[in-house]
Amino acid sequence: MTSASLPTLPLARSAIDRAAHRRTEDLLTALLAQPATRVLAVAAGRAAVSGDPVGLVLRAPEPADAGRLAVYLGTEPDGTEHVAVLVDDVPDGVGLREVGAVLGARDAGLLTQAVALLAWHAVHTHCPRCGGPTRVVQAGYSRHCDADGSDHYPRTDPAVIMTVVDTDDRLLLGHQASWPPGRFSTLAGFVEPGEPLEAAVRREVLEESGIVVGRVDYRGSQPWPFPASIMLGFHAYATSRDIEVDGVEIESARWFSREDLRAAMSSGEVLLPPSVSIARALIEDWFGGPLTDSGVPWA
Ligand SMILES: [Zn+2]
Repeated sequence: MTSASLPTLPLARSAIDRAAHRRTEDLLTALLAQPATRVLAVAAGRAAVSGDPVGLVLRAPEPADAGRLAVYLGTEPDGTEHVAVLVDDVPDGVGLREVGAVLGARDAGLLTQAVALLAWHAVHTHCPRCGGPTRVVQAGYSRHCDADGSDHYPRTDPAVIMTVVDTDDRLLLGHQASWPPGRFSTLAGFVEPGEPLEAAVRREVLEESGIVVGRVDYRGSQPWPFPASIMLGFHAYATSRDIEVDGVEIESARWFSREDLRAAMSSGEVLLPPSVSIARALIEDWFGGPLTDSGVPWA
């Protein structure tokens, strides 16, 4: 067994320099005054796409952008500057889950970054210390409270997600109570404050399935801004076999051999998460190659 990385994950791709050193107070004003700046308009996590292959619709700045929440995304190697703005509506807009896996690296990175930042701003308009209003500073990477002088930074919530195998290399997959029948995926959960990642893996697996985990190997990560997670992927080795689900979050769980899983997928009995997810990548990493869906959509 190795702890080599997963292949590059759809939402972990990027082709721009975030250029953190350029996040000055007047950067956005300057960029929104330049016709060459590319603006990505986002509404509720959705953006417009067009073309074949599909790409984000990036436009020149418009006068109304000056009054919109804006964040600096970064610069391309050719000098093209990118800014995201929050708008009320994007007709026919699509979300990262739908297009994240089919966008090119630049656009997947731009949309992931924009969605994550704008989602944070949307729910952090006021100071957690004094309740006063905060304002956007550092070109969108911080908010400042003028009443008490405190600065507030975008948060990212770490979550662990893991393939768990038994001593026969069978894979543990769970079915959440809230999912339609047949939907199975890897176990996952949020890291708690003060908790090492490996301990979070062992705790979540034990809580959700009753399985005891020994060795834990890190495999890779990707941001999952729905609204603020980063998924940290692991491959874990069970030291027990008897499943006892919590019955609350996880309704059932099963061990799958590779042949079990292939057969259950082709018959439509089991539906795996889509290719944009790290869960799918972890499962295919264990399987040893791509798995073919039965054609029934996950969503
Ligand atoms: Zn305050």
